[in-house]
Amino acid sequence: MTSRSESARIRQLLQGLTEDEILELMRMISPKFATADAETRKKAMLPDPNEKKSSKTYEKLKAAEQRYFEEAYSENSEFWKPLTIEDESDWLNNHPESGQTFHDWFTKEYPQHRVNRQRRTIYILPLGPFPPGHVGQSAAAAPGTTTEADGSSSDRGAAGGAEGGACAGSRSDKVLLTWLQKFCQCFFLGVDVKFLDPVRVREVGCHTRINEHTKQWQLLSKDILDYLVSKKPRDAICLVAVTMLDLYPSDSWNFVFGQASLVTGCGVFSFARYDDNFYHIPRDRPKAKKSELEEFSMPPVTSPLLLRACKVMTHELCHMFGMKHCIYFSCCINGSNSRDESDRRPVDLCPICLRKLQEAMDFRLAIRFRAMLQYCTKESWDAGIPAPPLEAFEPFKKWLERVLAFMDKPTVAGSEESSQASD
Ligand SMILES: [Zn+2]
Ligand SMILES: [Zn+2]
Repeated sequence: MTSRSESARIRQLLQGLTEDEILELMRMISPKFATADAETRKKAMLPDPNEKKSSKTYEKLKAAEQRYFEEAYSENSEFWKPLTIEDESDWLNNHPESGQTFHDWFTKEYPQHRVNRQRRTIYILPLGPFPPGHVGQSAAAAPGTTTEADGSSSDRGAAGGAEGGACAGSRSDKVLLTWLQKFCQCFFLGVDVKFLDPVRVREVGCHTRINEHTKQWQLLSKDILDYLVSKKPRDAICLVAVTMLDLYPSDSWNFVFGQASLVTGCGVFSFARYDDNFYHIPRDRPKAKKSELEEFSMPPVTSPLLLRACKVMTHELCHMFGMKHCIYFSCCINGSNSRDESDRRPVDLCPICLRKLQEAMDFRLAIRFRAMLQYCTKESWDAGIPAPPLEAFEPFKKWLERVLAFMDKPTVAGSEESSQASD
C-alpha cells in the first residue's frame, strides 16, 4: 500500500513535482492507497496543544473514551482502518477533498451548528408515495451543498446477489420509517427525531425526468431543497426529506443518493437505489407514466435495504452538523460514488468524526454504543414495534460488543483479545 510517507521518497525521485501532483500520479498508477498517513490522521483528531479551546474538549473526555479514540492510531487497530481507494471510480479519486480536522470543524462549523434547547429536533419529511403505515408516530449546514454520487458509471453492476434477510410482504415493511427514526435516535443520541406529515410530489412542484439508463422517474433534488426551506420548523436542527423515488441534482448528472444544504439545514435523500430490483428493470420496460410518481410501490424492506437506508440517512444528517466528508478512516461519512462504495463504508463514524458529533451532542460514548447495540438486538424490541430485519446488522452488532468490551477493559490489539471472555 502506498502512503504519503512513501510519496515523500518518490518525491525525491521526481523533483520539481508537488506532493499533490505525485499523489495524482500514484492514483493513476495504482488506485489502491491510503489517503492520509498516520500522522495526518492523528493531527486531525488531536489538535496542537496550543489550540487551547479544541484541546480542552479532548481533556474532558472519560479515560475509556480517550482510550477508544487513541486505539484507532495503533498499528493494527482492531476497530478502524485508514480509508483506501479501492477502485478508480471511488469518490475521492474523482472528487479530491482535503478533509476536515476536528479543529477545523470546531472553530469554523460548530459555532453555527450548535444543538441547544431551542434547536434540538431532527425532522423527517416523507416525500412521494410511502404507503400508509410506513410513517411512524412522532418520535428527524457550511457553505454550499454536498452531493453524494455521480452516477456516470454507477449503473454498472450493483448486483444484488444473495444478501438475505428479506421480509417481503410482511407487516414489518410497514414501519420502515419508524425503524429509521429509532436508529437515528441511537446514532444522534440526545436529540429528538420527529416526522412531519408526508407530502406528494405534485405539492413540492419539483422538476422531474425519466432517467435514460434506468427508465425510472427522478426528482430534481435542488427543487426539493428549495421547497423544504419553507417547511422547516423553528426548533429544527435540520429537516430532511426521504423518498423512494430516485434523485438527480442537475441535468448533467445521472443521479444522486442525496443532497444537503448546510446553509439552510435542509436535505433530501432517496432509498430508490438501495432496492436490489432497482437495477434489474427490463430495458424494454414500457415508458414510465406520470401517475407512477404518486403510486410508486414500496419495495420489500430487506435487511440490506434497511441497513443502507440507515447509513445514507445518518451520513446526510451528519452533514447538517457541519461535518464534511471524511478522508482519514473508512467511515460512514466518506463520500461515495456508487452503491458498492457505500456498502464498503462502516455503519459508524470514525474516531475523528465521532469526536465532532460527541461535541455537538454531548453524549457519553458507551451509552450511545449500548443504545445502538440494543437496536441491533432482536430481543430488545417490544411488542409495540416489530423488530426490523436485522441480519445485515450482525457484523455491526459484533463490532459494538467488542468496542464496549474494550472500553470496559482494554486489550492489547492483536494479542490478548481472545484470552478472556467477559459476560
Ligand atoms: Zn456526503
Ligand atoms: Zn471519519
